[in-house]
Amino acid sequence: MRRAIYPGSFDPVTNGHLDVIDRARKLFDEVVVAIAVNDQKQPLFSLEERVAFLTKTLGNLDGVQVAPLEGLLVDFAVQQKATAVIRGLRAISDFEFEFQMALMNRKLEPTVETIFLMPKEEYTYLSSRIVKEIARLGGDIAKFVPPHVVEAFRRKEKR
Ligand code: ADP
Repeated sequence: MRRAIYPGSFDPVTNGHLDVIDRARKLFDEVVVAIAVNDQKQPLFSLEERVAFLTKTLGNLDGVQVAPLEGLLVDFAVQQKATAVIRGLRAISDFEFEFQMALMNRKLEPTVETIFLMPKEEYTYLSSRIVKEIARLGGDIAKFVPPHVVEAFRRKEKR
């Protein structure tokens, strides 16, 4: 049984995240999408909203679970009996931070390996941050995020 953790803020989930989940599923029996609780980034969507976007979008997809992530990632990985952490790499700009995190996590917990997956090219420019920016300025985000997320932005606008 091979299990991996895919951690992130997912504020909100985008088609790029879904592409990474899809690729990870092919490599692992189980992928736990772990949504950061104590996010220093001050998320736009609450933990409950971010979890709901993913559970609704993924449905009962085989081999994928969604869970909140509190505390140290490597502790969570050990607790879940996971052997790997999945991260997405879009561009060189992701590299420095990801490299540092991967090596630090290895120092903290040598049994957990970090694996980087590249998304489909059309998603390399996609981030949760840019989706929020487009939505805030009134642009159409339907091509970049699942329908539940589009609806959530619409509801926020009406408030
Ligand atoms: P974090 O706050 O940890 O950066 P994100 O939710 O922004 O979390 O992203 C979680 C992971 O998914 C990170 O490894 C990030 O690089 C990756 N990721 C985000 N967007 C994309 C995308 N469009 N294509 C591939 N990977 C992505």
